[in-house]
Amino acid sequence: MGLWTVGAVEIADQNSESKGTSDRKRGETAMGTEQDDAIVLRVTPWSETSCVVTLLTRQQGKRALVAKGARRPKSPFEAALDLLSLCHVVFIPKTGDALDILTEARLQRRFRAASRDLLRLYCGYYVAELLDRLTDIGDSHPELFDLAVATIEQLDTGTADVRSVVLRFELGVLRHTGHLPSLERCVECGVTWESSTDEGEQQGWYLFSAAGGGVYCTHCKDRARQSIRMGAAPYRALLAYSQPDWRRIDVDTFPDNSARVVRRVVRDTMRHLLDRPPRMEPYLQDLQRS
Ligand SMILES: [Zn+2]
Repeated sequence: MGLWTVGAVEIADQNSESKGTSDRKRGETAMGTEQDDAIVLRVTPWSETSCVVTLLTRQQGKRALVAKGARRPKSPFEAALDLLSLCHVVFIPKTGDALDILTEARLQRRFRAASRDLLRLYCGYYVAELLDRLTDIGDSHPELFDLAVATIEQLDTGTADVRSVVLRFELGVLRHTGHLPSLERCVECGVTWESSTDEGEQQGWYLFSAAGGGVYCTHCKDRARQSIRMGAAPYRALLAYSQPDWRRIDVDTFPDNSARVVRRVVRDTMRHLLDRPPRMEPYLQDLQRS
């Protein structure tokens, strides 16, 4: 693959010199290229001068691309390839196991949460990690992309509650990748709380199991493995923050007496889904504070 890919990079570079992008509309192809908005999820050295960049693009999902010359002092991509930068990219898509070739990356917005506080910075890294680990190459999730951009901006600037911003993102990424736990009906028998007189619900508690994929009614509770018993406040918080229209979720505050249990539910869910716990998990302790 090495020689062939290097050859393709050189051809790509020659082609890209003669064309500007300013008069081209998003997504339009020119000479086999694609363009899209993108978030930088991961950058790894590939050769002395090049990197492999993992991007979440808005229309074309996650992509892995070779950025030739990105490690040179005067990189053609400048600061556009920093972690969590939002940029506009032009690339040559490849099929199969071959990496796409990145030909242009224009910075639109840099992630600067480090200048505010460490928790916001760590939460940003966590967002990048979840996007990388929960999405597949090429699967398009424009709505998840928009949520991710809003999340990164709110971690960076503004007065939103970090706990809310992170929880809305976590439940959003679970929803868009088909992993949202069942909260409104029992995972075992399918009963909804509205249609039953659930003993637990009437007493104000709910049984959640990440391994089972959601909440269990009182009738099915013996089948829940490694369950968490949660009160009405964290349960309602999880419901509110997982609603389909994330733009309607209030992130200015966070519900009282919910943070600790909510964090446990999400932590268990991520651990269950991923083959190893999120790398950033130990850095998120402060999200538990009520
Ligand atoms: Zn049940």
